[in-house]
Amino acid sequence: MFNLVLFGPPGSGKGTQSENIVSIYKLEHISTGDLLRNEVKNQTPLGVEAKKYMDQGLLVPDEVVIGMISSKIDENADARGFIFDGFPRTEAQAEALDKLLEFKNTKINLVLSLIVSEPDLINRLISRGETSGRSDDTEEVVIKRIKEYHSKTAPVANYYKEHGKLEDVNGNHSINETFKLLSNQINKYLLPA
Ligand code: ADP
Repeated sequence: MFNLVLFGPPGSGKGTQSENIVSIYKLEHISTGDLLRNEVKNQTPLGVEAKKYMDQGLLVPDEVVIGMISSKIDENADARGFIFDGFPRTEAQAEALDKLLEFKNTKINLVLSLIVSEPDLINRLISRGETSGRSDDTEEVVIKRIKEYHSKTAPVANYYKEHGKLEDVNGNHSINETFKLLSNQINKYLLPA
């Protein structure tokens, strides 16, 4: 199994690049943002609870997200590997993920961190909001999401750096250029399927 974390602030292109990576490397995509939005859409108890945080630009509590990830991994036991998108977002989530994977005799192999300048992030998110229909893509909520990223999520990069798994990738380029940079890193571990 090859397990990849795609790491980066909101608006850094994780969703778009995950789709590219999935189509070439045939990994199973796990996006906590998509999973949560699906729960919200279906008005499940988890979704109703999560929406309160998401609409304010705050992170959903760790135990909620970790439980969701665990069942998703179990459902795809024979996958070639996983790409985690938008997860882990706190150090507690990173530690929980390591434990879950260890229990399944596997591990995170590589963490690719997309680096994008802050003004670009804000512009991308606000213009996405004009078409995405996402209630959390307004200027006010976007600024809160970026704050939340700096205080809780950015330290996760250090966690992986200390474990020797982190590679920075410049995400200011075009989608295709950025994908090439990501592929160069992935190809060291796994060839296209
Ligand atoms: P983006 O990366 O563009 O901000 P996501 O779609 O990944 O958006 O996440 C949207 C929202 O869902 C987050 O602002 C947060 O409220 C919630 N969320 C997603 N993933 C997590 C996670 N791993 N832990 C806690 N909350 C999460």
